[in-house]
Amino acid sequence: MKRSDTDALVIGGGPAGASVAIRLTGLGWRVTLLEQTSFPRQKVCGECLGPASLELLDELGLGSKVSELAGPAIRQVAWMASERTIVAEMPACLGGRHAYGCAIGRDCLDMLLLEHARSQGVDVVQPAKVLRVSGVPGDFDCVYEWRCNGVIDERERRTEHHRKAAFVIDAHGSWERGPECHATERDGGEDLQLQSSDLLAFKTTFDGATLAAGVLPVLCLPGGYGGMVVSDRGRTTIACCIRRATLRQWRAHARGGSAGDVVEAYLRSSCDGVAAALRTAHRQDSWHAVGPLRTGFHPRSASGIPRIGNAAAEAHPLIGEGICMALQSAAILAKLFAHRPKDLRAAYIVDVQRTHAAICRKEFSARMRLAQLYARVAMQPSLAAAAAILMGSWPRALTAGAQLAGKARRGELELSWRPAVA
Ligand SMILES: Cc1cc2nc3c(=O)[nH]c(=O)nc-3n(C[C@H](O)[C@H](O)[C@H](O)COP(=O)(O)OP(=O)(O)OC[C@H]3O[C@@H](n4cnc5c(N)ncnc54)[C@H](O)[C@@H]3O)c2cc1C
Repeated sequence: MKRSDTDALVIGGGPAGASVAIRLTGLGWRVTLLEQTSFPRQKVCGECLGPASLELLDELGLGSKVSELAGPAIRQVAWMASERTIVAEMPACLGGRHAYGCAIGRDCLDMLLLEHARSQGVDVVQPAKVLRVSGVPGDFDCVYEWRCNGVIDERERRTEHHRKAAFVIDAHGSWERGPECHATERDGGEDLQLQSSDLLAFKTTFDGATLAAGVLPVLCLPGGYGGMVVSDRGRTTIACCIRRATLRQWRAHARGGSAGDVVEAYLRSSCDGVAAALRTAHRQDSWHAVGPLRTGFHPRSASGIPRIGNAAAEAHPLIGEGICMALQSAAILAKLFAHRPKDLRAAYIVDVQRTHAAICRKEFSARMRLAQLYARVAMQPSLAAAAAILMGSWPRALTAGAQLAGKARRGELELSWRPAVA
């Protein structure tokens, strides 16, 4: 192996990137993380953490801090379809450290994670966008540029910076093009192919909303779905996904106004529960947007560069499991590296990458399929109304649906798999 500036270079400082950096530093690795934006920053996200995510944050040494800052425990789940609202008990996670989940703003959570990474010795380079990665496992060259408020600093435009790394981890998320990495290959799995959807995602926060604390409503919208929740500092977060065609229709109907205004008008008029919760509310922030979502496994990755978090796989956000999958995929990778050889040989790294992709497929497939099914029901008014009738007479169906989606899952990961090359 050639001389490197760092053992592992992590691209992206979201929950996946920050948590893998913390874990690898804990194993004695020299870790560098590059994040293109300055924190705190907002992120399009429903901001709900289930008990499993809280357990994984405990493992990182952050669970109590997050629980202290987050909104109230989420003890109820609701199904809001047009004029109907069905409320049921959230299933409790039995035997775990956290019975219920909670919500915390991504400005807050991501900042906590990255600050913690820094305090643990991770070399955080921020705001720095990774442009290209070349080389082979054991000897990667990563090219990046400095950014200023997310924009390339003009004085820096022609200055390329380099970091040499033995090992690179791609945690750049899924909502923008990642850095160029050479020698891309499929990870071999064929199930749950990537689906480029026509869904655009939005999020904002409100003051003075009257949504009951501790309830997590799923919003069923014609041509979309969403969720709202009371998060940290009493603010109410609303996040949703809307089909491009639906949005276009609403825009034509609104004749003017920003995309955010159109989204808000659509939410208020499509769902009585949202209109009621926001009657006295004031928006704290503008509407943030990303998309289109690309749900499924993201099968192409560069040889020897494992992907974690959304960069590896994205579920429909209706089930609110994305942060959990990000934290889990990071934990799986770090666990596979727990007994690394002294010399990070290329064959070993490629084997870890393949093993990691296979474990993630096994761990996440069911959740992703279920999310796809729920999203279909929620976006189709006739199905959403039929589901509301069923849940109205049998609210336990809603509790069971939340249980299936993983809301009572524990964070523990028992890995018996080991890379074949050690
Ligand atoms: C509408 C909506 C609602 C959701 N609600 C929930 C929910 O309630 N609960 C839940 O658990 N999940 C939810 N999710 C999913 C969740 O937001 C994602 O799964 C999660 O953010 C994935 O984390 P990540 O670390 O993989 O990626 P990200 O959080 O996207 O982080 C990636 C980071 O990489 C940085 N980056 C990108 N490219 C580069 C580059 N070239 N160089 C350097 N840095 C780079 C980005 O700036 C970013 O900070 C929701 C998603 C949507 C769209």
